Amino acid sequence: LDEPSVGLHPHDIKLITQSLKKLKEHGNTIILVDHNPAIISTADYVVEMGPQAGKNGGQVTFTGTYDELLRSDTITGKMLREKITFPKPREPQSWLNVNHVTSHNLKDVSSRIPQGVMTVVSGPAGSGKSTLVQAFKQQVSDQDYIDLSQDSVGLNIRSTPATYLNILNPLRKLFSKANNGVSTQLFSYNGKGACPRCKGKGVMITEMAFMDPIVQECELCHGKRYSQEALQYT
Ligand SMILES: [Zn+2]
Repeated sequence: LDEPSVGLHPHDIKLITQSLKKLKEHGNTIILVDHNPAIISTADYVVEMGPQAGKNGGQVTFTGTYDELLRSDTITGKMLREKITFPKPREPQSWLNVNHVTSHNLKDVSSRIPQGVMTVVSGPAGSGKSTLVQAFKQQVSDQDYIDLSQDSVGLNIRSTPATYLNILNPLRKLFSKANNGVSTQLFSYNGKGACPRCKGKGVMITEMAFMDPIVQECELCHGKRYSQEALQYT
């Protein structure tokens, strides 16, 4: 299994480890890759890779039981021994309230979230965490906030970090506002503002029949993706 614990609540992880234990008791050999301390602690045998990532990794740095790992000087052994300390929380200045939320499985839920500090919404899978956060988002819809979802990013030649952060729409509005209300569409390289040469891709792609396509920076916009008309606005 490759990281079965990803995104799961400790309660759900417990259900997984119970299932794994049953599998083992039926005589199966189980190999799994995981970072989660609770999962590692259930192992009969641990293999640690390291010492670091990428080109600084590639070695077996530990093999043995979990108890031996806890006493080892490897990076995982040290991390598992480390006591977590938290700084004194900052006093919140104000609160966001949501009242009587009844969407999905929420049963007339009211709650509040402090502003200016970090809040974690926790609970087992399917308990209503995302629905509650959705309700808070609706409340602040007229304020500035950035929403990063779990959705995988649609990766294609038109994606940029700004696509991932979902800030292109507000940026377009800002450009429009700063330039006497010029159409926001002009600031989209997927539409009206696209460089006419590369059609907003920033590169020219020449398909080759039996080889990889040749990719060159666009001579007109020099990779900026936008038309001259769009680029004159700042
Ligand atoms: Zn271009």
